[in-house]
Amino acid sequence: MHGLMMDMPLLLPSVLHYAAKFHGSTEIVSRAEEGGIHRYTYAEAASRTARLANALVALGLEPGDRVGTLAWNGYRHFELYFAVPGAGFVCHTINPRLFPDQISFIINDAEDRFVFVDLSFVKLLEGIAPTLAKVKGYVIMTDREHMPGTTLPNVLCYEELIAARPDHFPWPDLDERTASGMCYTSGTTGAPKGVLYSHRSTLLHSMACIRADVFGLSARDAIMPVVPMFHVNSWGLPYAAAMTGAKLVLPGGKLDGASLTELITTEGVTAAAGVPTVWQALLNHADAADTGLAPLERVAIGGSALSASLIGRFAARGVRTIHAWGMTETSPVAASCVLARRHDSLTADEKLAIQLKQGFAVYGADLRIVDHAGRELPWDGKTHGVLEVRGPWICSGYFNSDDRSAFSDDGWFATGDVCTMTPDGYMEIVDRTKDVIKSGGEWISSIALENIAIGHPAIREAAAIGRPDDKWGERPRLVLALKPGCELTAAEMRAFLEPRIAKWWMPDDIVIVDELPHTATGKLLKVELRRLYGRREVEGSLKL
Ligand code: AMP
Repeated sequence: MHGLMMDMPLLLPSVLHYAAKFHGSTEIVSRAEEGGIHRYTYAEAASRTARLANALVALGLEPGDRVGTLAWNGYRHFELYFAVPGAGFVCHTINPRLFPDQISFIINDAEDRFVFVDLSFVKLLEGIAPTLAKVKGYVIMTDREHMPGTTLPNVLCYEELIAARPDHFPWPDLDERTASGMCYTSGTTGAPKGVLYSHRSTLLHSMACIRADVFGLSARDAIMPVVPMFHVNSWGLPYAAAMTGAKLVLPGGKLDGASLTELITTEGVTAAAGVPTVWQALLNHADAADTGLAPLERVAIGGSALSASLIGRFAARGVRTIHAWGMTETSPVAASCVLARRHDSLTADEKLAIQLKQGFAVYGADLRIVDHAGRELPWDGKTHGVLEVRGPWICSGYFNSDDRSAFSDDGWFATGDVCTMTPDGYMEIVDRTKDVIKSGGEWISSIALENIAIGHPAIREAAAIGRPDDKWGERPRLVLALKPGCELTAAEMRAFLEPRIAKWWMPDDIVIVDELPHTATGKLLKVELRRLYGRREVEGSLKL
């Protein structure tokens, strides 16, 4: 027997419809590409989004067609977030920080029909346009006055495109499983892979993100997603903000400490989200300029691990940090770390140890750790295993690919992260599967070694990789970039590490270099590090 409840599909236009109807006068504020601050309301955003949807249909797009975006966090991108999927197409957000040949690869792989581009990325797109045979046209996200001269073929101006369109659109009654968005993985271990979100998955994920133990959002908030809208839907925040009726503050391309601090204070930002490096820069600026961060209350941090120093620096300013874990394949948020009521009696140090973990599953997503044969491992806080995830916003396959290697027969997705689970249900990332250093059957966490090494005052950045060893299989090696004007000897490094690590974790040697290679998203490029420094002997290495 079915329940007697209305059967309404979970579709994204309903989110903007809700914001416009119940929070119509709430503002969306953007740092505009043309300069200055742009502000309008959810009601105005909804009406322009309807005009954009009409324009997309007029472009001749067919249901399911992909529409690319190369844009910062701004109001026109927000409009695309709703108009493209709402009208039955797929919003493919492209990361402009990828290398041009990767961008060309993913636009071609996704078969984008049109690409919407911010003024900042027109030049980038011009460079690869000759390789994009399937793109029918480009829309520059600006008005006539600011249209640049460009070699892009079939160019349209965004404001002209939507100007004369009706501000009502007959949003189609789609199946909620219809594809809504697309984002490619950052390709640290090979070609980028397309992840295809649906209306249902995106909507459920956004609802989960709002919860008190995740981002804890409400109509009382002004939310600033610093995480780019081209990186996993800005962690779902544009949708989550509209769903709560919170004010939305979109920082454009200016992500330096001074620009972000200015938006926080002038726009009254209460909650923000981004990767650790952004917050480090913000706090450095706030310290140097001796400015406060009021009214900021909460900062969600993910993408890489939250450090004790970041927790402490924010806490000193009265700001609570929320550690979140996820990846492109998981929409992204699948775990978050907050202290539970049962932790109230712990000491400050014990609480800090928990806060540094990536946390427990967000209801809807489920987690487990397994060994290489797929057997579940114990939750004892010590045993390392590969993290697997499942849930209605976790990907079940890659676009245009029959690679099933990450998908288990019993319906789980292998994340490639190596983790421990405490008996209390808290997950901690120890390493990436491919980066962990396997020494004599034991695993050495490259991340743990790196985090300890950067505690040395002369070290700017550290990478730990395995070097081949006849007896142990692999032994650790540290590749280090030093702070300007600093020097470091092998004896100093050894003396620094000795009291901090187990004996068998001691790296065999260190290699000092000017710069470490990074991915386009700012993560250490371990594949390249291993190529450059993974040989048995490396010239100039210092034995520890
Ligand atoms: P991406 O798909 O580019 O977002 O990268 C996802 C990967 O980033 C994950 O598999 C983790 O390795 C890493 N990551 C994300 N969040 C965290 C976190 N809170 N702590 C440590 N690593 C993280």
